[in-house]
Amino acid sequence: MVPVLAWWRELGGLVLPAACTGCGDPGTTLCEACRRALYGARPRRVRPASGPAGLPPVHAAAPYEGAVREVVLAHKERGALELAAPLGAALAGAVAAAVAVPRGARGGGLLLVPVPSTPRAVAARGQDATLRAARAAAVALRRAGRAAEVVPVLRQRRRVADQAGLDPGGRRANLSGALEVVRNGPRLLGRGRVVLVDDVMTTGVSLAEAARAVDAARRREAGIRAVRGGMSAAVIAAPRPSFEINRN
Ligand SMILES: [Zn+2]
Repeated sequence: MVPVLAWWRELGGLVLPAACTGCGDPGTTLCEACRRALYGARPRRVRPASGPAGLPPVHAAAPYEGAVREVVLAHKERGALELAAPLGAALAGAVAAAVAVPRGARGGGLLLVPVPSTPRAVAARGQDATLRAARAAAVALRRAGRAAEVVPVLRQRRRVADQAGLDPGGRRANLSGALEVVRNGPRLLGRGRVVLVDDVMTTGVSLAEAARAVDAARRREAGIRAVRGGMSAAVIAAPRPSFEINRN
C-alpha cells in the first residue's frame, strides 16, 4: 500500500517544485546546508544521560534537532524514499566511526543489524525506515570499499508499547527481553563484525536490548567456541546533550 503512496509522492516530486525537507528552501529535496548538517561533521561517540546497562559504544552522525530531525521524521513517518540515500550516508559515517577502534579485532565484513521497529509501527507506516536506512548505509560503505551487509536478524519476541511517551524506567521495562534473534541468525552473525544500527538513539534502551539479544544468541550458538569481539552501535542522530557528555 505504501509503495503506491511512495511512488505517487516520488512522481509528485518530479512534477512539483521541490522544497528542502530540512529547511524548506525551494529547488531541491535536500539542500547542501542540510546535507552538511546530516553528514558533514565527524561522527562522535554519544552517551545517553543515564546509559542503560549493556549499552555498547554508540556513534552518531549528528545531533537530533532542526533540519536533521525534519529529515529523519520525513523518511520515517512520511516514507520520503528520496531521503534514504543521504540518511544512509550519515549512518555509514557513524558505522565507520564505530568500527574505527578495534574491539576484539576480527576479520570479515561489517554486519549491520538494525533494531527492529514494532510490527505495528511497520504496519502503520507501511515500511521499515530503519531497515531502509541500514541498506542505504551498507551501499555507501561498499562504495567506500568496505565489505558491509545488512543482516536483519532481530525481531520482536512479544508485543511492546510504543516507546514514545515512556520515561527511561518505563522504556526499560517495556523492552526488557522484548527482542530475539531469528532461527538462522546466529549463523549469519558469525560471518563478520556486528554493528547495531538505528535511526535515532534517545535513552539507549532499544540498543541495549538489541545488544543483549544478539549476545544471548551468540552465546547459545557458541557453547563450542568463545564469544568474540565486542559489539558497537551506530545511529544517524542522538540528542545534543548525549554529544556534550563527551566533552570532558
Ligand atoms: Zn535545507
